[in-house]
Amino acid sequence: MPVPGPFRLLLVALSMVFALSAQDGFKYPIPEKLERATAKDDKGVEQWVAFEPTKCLACSGTGKVKCPTCERYPEEATKCVDCNRSKDRMAVCHTCAGTGQTVDPLTKAICPGCQGAGGVICGFCPGSGLLTLGEDKRWSNCLGCRGKGFEKCGVCNGQRLVECAAVKPSLKDANAAALDKALTATDDALKALSAFSPMAKNTRKEQKELARLIGLSQQIYPPLKRTVPVLDGLMATVSASSGYQNLTEREVAAMGRIKSGAEYYLKHQKRMIELAKKRAEANEALQAENKGK
Ligand SMILES: [Zn+2]
Ligand SMILES: [Zn+2]
Ligand SMILES: [Zn+2]
Ligand SMILES: [Zn+2]
Repeated sequence: MPVPGPFRLLLVALSMVFALSAQDGFKYPIPEKLERATAKDDKGVEQWVAFEPTKCLACSGTGKVKCPTCERYPEEATKCVDCNRSKDRMAVCHTCAGTGQTVDPLTKAICPGCQGAGGVICGFCPGSGLLTLGEDKRWSNCLGCRGKGFEKCGVCNGQRLVECAAVKPSLKDANAAALDKALTATDDALKALSAFSPMAKNTRKEQKELARLIGLSQQIYPPLKRTVPVLDGLMATVSASSGYQNLTEREVAAMGRIKSGAEYYLKHQKRMIELAKKRAEANEALQAENKGK
């Protein structure tokens, strides 16, 4: 059945907003495609349209998804940051923090430290709290996390979502100059971070470099400032596994996890700053025009 014109436009617009990408078995919105509408008021000023939450498409509005995290855990595991090893093994959706509804991207973003899990899983076990070591066929507590599996995330304090760019007075209402400055800083930080790929050839040096890159824009992004100690904590769980097989893989994976969390957050922020800047520029041009009359 052909869809009539205006409806088709709306459908295209909606599917753009909710375009999803998968990572770690969870689905996340594609940051470059996030939208936030504005509309002209009676004076011709572009105002943000009030945010109306809609059904989260990552979880079909249920707030839960089949847990992808503990699929690789042994039956005996009792810890999972995502599903808590509940009977139905359903995990809290990372995109909506379990609310089943979309979150206003102008005010909140998925946490760069835990990517919405609320906790940072151990870099050794990883996340079940259990290990078998050497010839021993029995499960014992992981040396990296002492059997805990994960730590509450220090970036979001377990809340899964974090605040947006700290531009004054707010990301929504900052002027074009302030937003342009924030955009440049975000772009620079994003480029530098994207160019970094962890190899675990000299892990200490790479960890330090990653911390530096994450901290590049910490003036504007307090959540990234808080991500640096989370990286260090995670790497400490990995180093508890030195002397065991596959250390390099674990080091690469742990650094990669933090890198992609920070990268995603910066992309999300970049997109929102671009939208806010477009609005600010339109309003400043209108103001200049009115003054000239
Ligand atoms: Zn699970
Ligand atoms: Zn959801
Ligand atoms: Zn977090
Ligand atoms: Zn562990």
